[in-house]
Amino acid sequence: MAGRLRAVIFGRQGAGKGTQSARLSAHYGAPHISTGDMLRAAVSEGTEFGRKADEYMRGGNLVPDDVMIGVVRERLAKPDAVEGGFLLDGFPRTLGQSEALLDITGDDGIDVVIDLDVPLDVVTARMKGRGRADDTDEAIARRLELYEKETGPVLAWFERRGKLVTVDGVGTEEEVFARLSAAVDRRLGQR
Ligand code: ADP
Repeated sequence: MAGRLRAVIFGRQGAGKGTQSARLSAHYGAPHISTGDMLRAAVSEGTEFGRKADEYMRGGNLVPDDVMIGVVRERLAKPDAVEGGFLLDGFPRTLGQSEALLDITGDDGIDVVIDLDVPLDVVTARMKGRGRADDTDEAIARRLELYEKETGPVLAWFERRGKLVTVDGVGTEEEVFARLSAAVDRRLGQR
């Protein structure tokens, strides 16, 4: 099917990834699969898995690769993803997860890896503007630094495989969505 989308989206905190993911998911009919949302759901359900995940998340740590890979493998096997494709958000976060993803989907099983790019100073200003209690200057800088450390090698890995498309995330919601869907359509047209 020409329109079916199988994609991964990356973006710094404050880049607008949540909003744009919801729109992309609706536009392409592909489920938005956010590992952060899945983990938070498990935590609030209080399952054994949720309790374990909660410990890692509270400590500011990543959930171990083998666990996360199992979770995503199962999720991608569900009928909505098999039929409609997927927009993965929050996974992969490590090189081990990246390799596992291509192992699950096959080399041709990912159409595009999107980097929704908003410069550091812009996202910093946006987050300060939210005025949330946990948005101290230090906390913001630390979260962004962690993102860079974690995501840099993963983005480079996908770039080497010809999957990465960087989309300018500065603009109105409409402008950014138009850029994203144009970039995605170009990729889907090349398949
Ligand atoms: P954030 O972007 O603020 O880290 P997320 O909602 O993406 O928020 O993830 C929240 C937490 O869930 C992470 O800090 C991490 O502990 C855990 N997590 C989410 N996705 C993954 C993943 N792919 N691998 C390991 N841990 C993950």
